[in-house]
Amino acid sequence: MCGIVGYIGQKKAYPILIKGLQRLEYRGYDSAGVALINESGRLNVYKAKGKVADLQAFCEDKDITGCAGIAHTRWATHGEPNSANAHPHYSASGRLALIHNGIIENYLALKEKLVARGIPFKSVTDTEVLVQLIEHIMLSNDLSLLEAVQVALHQVIGAYAIAILDREHPDTIVCARQSSPLVVGLGTDGDFYLASDASPIAEYTDRVVYLNDGDIAVLQLGQELKVVNIDNETQHPKVKQIDVTLGQLEKGGYPFFMLKEIFEQPACLRDCMRGRINVEADRITLSAVIDYREQLISARRIVIVACGTSWHAGLIGKQLIESLCRIPVEVEYASEFRYRDPVIYPDDVVIAISQSGETADTLAAIELARRAGAFVFGVCNAIGASIPRQTQTGVYIHVGPEIGVASTKAFTGQVTVLAMLAICIARERRTLPETQYEAMVKELTVIPEEISYIHAEGYPAAEMKHGPIALIDSEMPVFVIATRDQLYEKVISNIQEVRARGGRVTAIVTEGDTQIQKFADHIITLPDTLECFQPLIASIPLQLLAYHIAVCKGKDVDRPRNLAKSVTVE
Ligand code: GLU
Repeated sequence: MCGIVGYIGQKKAYPILIKGLQRLEYRGYDSAGVALINESGRLNVYKAKGKVADLQAFCEDKDITGCAGIAHTRWATHGEPNSANAHPHYSASGRLALIHNGIIENYLALKEKLVARGIPFKSVTDTEVLVQLIEHIMLSNDLSLLEAVQVALHQVIGAYAIAILDREHPDTIVCARQSSPLVVGLGTDGDFYLASDASPIAEYTDRVVYLNDGDIAVLQLGQELKVVNIDNETQHPKVKQIDVTLGQLEKGGYPFFMLKEIFEQPACLRDCMRGRINVEADRITLSAVIDYREQLISARRIVIVACGTSWHAGLIGKQLIESLCRIPVEVEYASEFRYRDPVIYPDDVVIAISQSGETADTLAAIELARRAGAFVFGVCNAIGASIPRQTQTGVYIHVGPEIGVASTKAFTGQVTVLAMLAICIARERRTLPETQYEAMVKELTVIPEEISYIHAEGYPAAEMKHGPIALIDSEMPVFVIATRDQLYEKVISNIQEVRARGGRVTAIVTEGDTQIQKFADHIITLPDTLECFQPLIASIPLQLLAYHIAVCKGKDVDRPRNLAKSVTVE
């Protein structure tokens, strides 16, 4: 949830850290803080409840000099959001400052031991235990910071991404990860960047190292990146190229990222299909399906595990895979799946869907599935994230960074990937006739235009005054469900408001209604029924409406592909 940023080099750290925190704001947080070592070796820590802007305001009259720093946005798990609980946390002597993303599960037991040794605590967080434990081990055993971190992490149970500054070594940041993401950026002058994802790093360097669980990294100015584990065994993580451009991280003239991302969808879906659907638009090639054909086509069952919006994409994936591939599919909340001891067969295929590729519950579900011997397939957006690294294979959705919290383009990207996957597997299983296969592939490629040019909105009548009324003129057809229920009179008022602005109204009314006829341009009548059953009946004319529009537009309405994609567009 929260964000970590770090920098060590020749540049001023503070502006880099603040900008980095702003790039991570989308992750959600309730307080922020920064630690900097100034030229005289003083370790300054500043923290504020609220937004990164509040931290900046707090820092206005402070010493923000220094070329080494770490910064944090906190999403409180242990202790209320206030400046005492915000990170960084100082060690008892003030020599170390530490930031942490995650939860230390055995913090109480560790804290009791430290308190018994007279170590004072200034916050009620689980995090402060880490910095006190590390310093206590370091000072009482005369160890280096790295050695102390290794000993401390042997005692810690939980999830963490941590970064530590030591004022005695102002050229070094030590960091570690276990179940929380951490990326190191390799600068051009021997400098290093550190962040929870690549977005704060992208404008400075395109060479990054995604740390793995169990990695401890030493970022020492002018030295090679050193990565070891808690037993001091050298690790060899790969240097990767980030493909995020600055433009993708900026709003590009839109007032909000979400609006930008909504309008990006046609281009994103083309990116998602690029290189996978050929120019003739009659063939889909997914290397994952070629490489792991046997596992996929002989799946006894597919279990989709996901959270939030990805779970909803999974529901559509289930429809697609079952109807096309004739393989039973279960869609599970990863959070439920991981804890309820599910039955998993070795010939199950588990599809894990996550935009970020870092969703903790989904990662835990993957681990469980792998232990049971199932084949695990990832559908993810963030390149190089944990899920693509912990699954046997998978497909990136390639829609670019999604910054808006409400998922838009990632959702349509996930559904597009699931559609391509379903079509590919269905073809291999021969459950989809070749002609239908080709027609479906073609249909998929025109989805981006459909998305671009058809505007439709459904909303509760009372919401009209809060926005959509601005769209109404004689060019805007408005469909009103105005069946006889307790809000009938209010809906009539809405119809009047639409009419007053020149809108054309088609009303779906209960048989025998005489009142609405006077105001509406068109009437569709429904048989009377109990109020609770009205939505069931009212949906029929809307389905017919969709059907007739599709026929008028020359679409093949019989194919489930279209149906699923209609859901996507909505
Ligand atoms: N568990 C820590 C706290 O409550 C870190 C939370 C976070 O990931 O931001 O302070």
